[in-house]
Amino acid sequence: MGAVRVSRRGLFKLTGASVGASTLTALGFSPAAAQAAVRAFKLERTSETRNTCPYCSVGCGVIMYSIGDGAKNVKGKIIHIEGDPDHPTNRGTLCPKGAALIDFINSKTRLQVPQYRAPGAKEWTRISWDQAIDKIARLMKDDRDKNFIARNGDGQTVNRWVSTGFLAASATSNETAWATYKVVRSLGMVVFDNQARV
Ligand code: SF4
Repeated sequence: MGAVRVSRRGLFKLTGASVGASTLTALGFSPAAAQAAVRAFKLERTSETRNTCPYCSVGCGVIMYSIGDGAKNVKGKIIHIEGDPDHPTNRGTLCPKGAALIDFINSKTRLQVPQYRAPGAKEWTRISWDQAIDKIARLMKDDRDKNFIARNGDGQTVNRWVSTGFLAASATSNETAWATYKVVRSLGMVVFDNQARV
């Protein structure tokens, strides 16, 4: 067997780490507990926000930890995400996809604002949320006025609108899903699905 080579600098590091660990142990602290304490300190001044993982129909609960006190010139930032131990679906666990949510949130390519591509145009243009909502409402109203079917060929009342569809996201609570369903169906819309069915 060959001898393990340790440089002088490496020896100091090794010795320091060993002394540190054995001193902690001698004082009654386990190194693992000490490291865990550092982790807890990192999150101590964060705000917790509960949410739902947006990826799939399992709908796991997550806790997002963010820094920033909400002051006018302070921009909040999510620095850590983990499974919500109180959530009945996942009880604190997350699959690898959900565990990597922080990368999705902070991705430079994440779409965060509404954009509009005019008919025939190649470029997307940034628009405000008010403009986007007005445009969607206008298009829905015009299409419904034009294509709403009050009665079928036999004269029976059907009140259906089949020329526009609605796709809802999976990251919804039962309550928001219920409200979405009521709004969509009250318009007579038949083509309605939820990403949670993927
Ligand atoms: S953590 Fe995984 S299993 Fe849970 S909702 Fe997200 S993608 Fe689905």
